Amino acid sequence: MTKPLANKDKNLTWVYPPNGWVSDFNQTFVYGHTNPKAKLYVEIGSIHELTIRKIKIKIFPNGNFAQVIKLPYKKNAIRMIQVLNGKEKITTRNVIARRLSLSKPTKQSSHRVALIDCHASFHSARSPGRAGNDVLTICIDPGHGGKEHGTHSPKGIPEKKYNLQIAKMLVKALLETCGRKSPQRTKIYLTRNNDKYVSLDDRVKFAKKKKCNLFISIHHNALPDNENPLKHRGIGVYYTHDSVKPLAKKFLESICKEIKLKQYGLFKRNFRVTKQDFYTGVLIECGFLIHPLESEVITADKMQKKIVKGIKRIIEDAI
Ligand SMILES: [Zn+2]
Repeated sequence: MTKPLANKDKNLTWVYPPNGWVSDFNQTFVYGHTNPKAKLYVEIGSIHELTIRKIKIKIFPNGNFAQVIKLPYKKNAIRMIQVLNGKEKITTRNVIARRLSLSKPTKQSSHRVALIDCHASFHSARSPGRAGNDVLTICIDPGHGGKEHGTHSPKGIPEKKYNLQIAKMLVKALLETCGRKSPQRTKIYLTRNNDKYVSLDDRVKFAKKKKCNLFISIHHNALPDNENPLKHRGIGVYYTHDSVKPLAKKFLESICKEIKLKQYGLFKRNFRVTKQDFYTGVLIECGFLIHPLESEVITADKMQKKIVKGIKRIIEDAI
């Protein structure tokens, strides 16, 4: 998925689909944010003939909206119509539908596609704990950054921002713990500490240089084009090596217990940042940023602190 660009108008932020989007299937979803008092419709037609179908879009009390729509043509014109105080505001996107395959699509979000590397590595992963007097070196990795936005909330705020917020809070919390428990034997690093682009290779190289043994990548989840954004919720934890699975499960359970969100699940994936064998790597998806209700919950400061607490609790065991 290419990164969708948000309409900057606060009264109607149309995040997805972006203009010129090529959908793999003949349906897609629209999501964004509008004035909660507005009425919202989409009209879908061919690029040459508009107003074929008009669909009313449900707006949540917080103003966010998300809905799956069918795209009947190869080239579709989608009009978003907001009616507020008797006035209409209309924005238009062109979306191309292309049926590439009849098989069911795999679940992959935008950044997951970017993270997948075809060259599999199946070495056994180390335990995050230290042997003897070894130093425990933890890399906290806020996903995306700079030109790479990741997914977006319905209000058009990029995932990269929330990843960094949580990562920084986690480092701060860990430094407090280490300061008390084991200041000499624990090192904690961030792979980025501001809004800059860092490639996946550079993240891994950085971890190698620092002799990292525990790598935690922080992300927020999205869905592919044809998935219903309202159906998926919760925390997901991803790992590559089977030896890391028990730790990944602990993170999942600990975060969900803290934040009282549903478990989206535990997934074995060959992500670049989790497949390395010189550290124990997990990727944590801190909920679905595109979900109209969940996005509000997981981006609140209070909830972010709970997510951090859930992660920290498990790391403390290794310190
Ligand atoms: Zn991401």
